[in-house]
Amino acid sequence: MKIDIVTIFPAMVQAPLSEGIVARAIARGVLDIRVHDLRDFTTDRHRVVDDVPFGGGPGMVLKPEPLFAAVDRIREERCADRGAGVHACRHAIVLTSPDGEPLTHEVAERFSRLDHLVVLCGRYEGVDERVREHLATEAISIGDYVLSGGELPALVIVDAVARLIPGVVGDEASVAGDTFVRGLLDYPQYTRPAEFRGQGVPPVLLSGHHAEIEKWRRAQAIERTRKYRPDLLEKKDKGAWS
Ligand code: SAH
Repeated sequence: MKIDIVTIFPAMVQAPLSEGIVARAIARGVLDIRVHDLRDFTTDRHRVVDDVPFGGGPGMVLKPEPLFAAVDRIREERCADRGAGVHACRHAIVLTSPDGEPLTHEVAERFSRLDHLVVLCGRYEGVDERVREHLATEAISIGDYVLSGGELPALVIVDAVARLIPGVVGDEASVAGDTFVRGLLDYPQYTRPAEFRGQGVPPVLLSGHHAEIEKWRRAQAIERTRKYRPDLLEKKDKGAWS
């Protein structure tokens, strides 16, 4: 899968991509991620990416031209190798935005089936609305709070999507059991030592009875979901999950 992230702070995005599961997937060629400096798509001497808002008000707004130029070039370069050109390439152009669609497991799963994902990072007061209306295919929010830029949201989106691409997480059974994947929270995990500061672990986990362990884990997953996220069980009952 190809992913392109457009930002005015490329170094901020690159560092987290150089560690852990995502870095390994990039090294193995399962993921092809490029980070672009929005200023490289300006045409003026000062490489200006922002301007004052029409109508007045505080702060600056990201200008449309560099973002449109970035997406045009990225789409051309990254999907031109497909026979029928850029249109044959299943893609999404995502604007990070606090008023976008909330990022959920379902959204991440939908993105993980694409050939090409472009993520645009806003800054300042936000992005000229024409980007959302005429360039982005969707706007995504990572939660009901405002961050100072789209870089952290872009990384969150990429990480959540990457885990769902076959071959990225070494053991696929690990992803299949994750919280939200089955519509249930994950069961609790324990590791050695079996006794720590006077606290033991549930005896069934030490019993070696796989069927009993499975039963216990399933019951725990349901119990924790009922306790912490009853809304997920309602969704499950309505058939949102199989
Ligand atoms: N004035 C805007 C906030 C701009 S924050 C408003 O009130 O809606 C600057 C940029 O940070 C945004 O353009 C967006 O790209 C990013 N951002 C901030 N919070 C975000 C969130 N919760 N989810 C996704 N992106 C976010």
